[in-house]
Amino acid sequence: FERLRQGMARTRGELGDRLRQLFGGRQWSDDLYDEIEEILYEADLGGAVTEIILAELRDRVRQARPKTTDQVGTILFDILRSRLEDPADPYVLPAERPQVWVMVGVNGTGKTTTAGKFAKQFHDRGYHVILGAADTFRAAATEQLQLWGKRAGVEVIHQSPGADPAAVAFDTVRAAVARHEDLAVIDTAGRLHNKANLMQELAKIGRVVGREVPGAPHQVWLVLDATTGQNGLAQARVFQEAINITGIVLTKLDGTAKGGIAWAIQHQLGVPIRFVGVGEGVDDLMPFNPDQYVRAILG
Ligand code: GDP
Repeated sequence: FERLRQGMARTRGELGDRLRQLFGGRQWSDDLYDEIEEILYEADLGGAVTEIILAELRDRVRQARPKTTDQVGTILFDILRSRLEDPADPYVLPAERPQVWVMVGVNGTGKTTTAGKFAKQFHDRGYHVILGAADTFRAAATEQLQLWGKRAGVEVIHQSPGADPAAVAFDTVRAAVARHEDLAVIDTAGRLHNKANLMQELAKIGRVVGREVPGAPHQVWLVLDATTGQNGLAQARVFQEAINITGIVLTKLDGTAKGGIAWAIQHQLGVPIRFVGVGEGVDDLMPFNPDQYVRAILG
């Protein structure tokens, strides 16, 4: 928790401090709604979510008739908490083996790094993991993944630069089946400027792995960079059109005061956030825990 709290210092400093100041032991007055609205909006919760939260707050204040700002603060924190979905323990893999995961997202969001962190974290928990370097567009991505593979003690399936990503994905799941791996994590490229290609490529990867392993891909992780705020949401929609996204990894929370984006993501994409990244180290990727998230910002 301390790591998360430190990683989220900037969001805590903006959203958290402003709310705590506002709610510090005064008499409640309806004039304060506007201020709350402004604070939520500026923390990148976005207009739609901010409105919904304000409406619920007004309702509950009308019913409970709190006298002090502290009481209203407690109600608001409760509402914020209830709007984040509780995920299952992401380190417990379902029974079907191998589990096949595909990493998607715009270049630079932290896909390759997250794939590497997954490999290390699951390997350290006793799972047999294999990595697939299907981001064949960016030569450095394969090298980067190999570095993570070495660090984790995990094999990396790759081909030469420019190879067909679906072919690498195919090789990876083949190897995973042959070697009885528990988990295959496949990195992909994220060239948003070439949207039609990207969509075809992702759809093809999905088909190819599904042919080799029934039910695959079991998870498609959309990696979103928290520092891009609301822009990240627009990118997310493009990926949602191409492939069925099953979970979000929200990276770089350490680099932004806009951690409020978590609420916007949950609301607008309808996909749970299951991991958050607060730095470049392997331990800086952690399961998303809504209680801790809210406490790291507001508590
Ligand atoms: P990709 O193009 O999506 O594969 O992105 P990379 O995995 O290459 O990551 C881009 C940069 O972001 C690298 O320098 C990573 O170390 C960095 N990065 C990834 N996740 C985090 C995070 O949670 N916090 C911070 N501060 N940096 C991160």
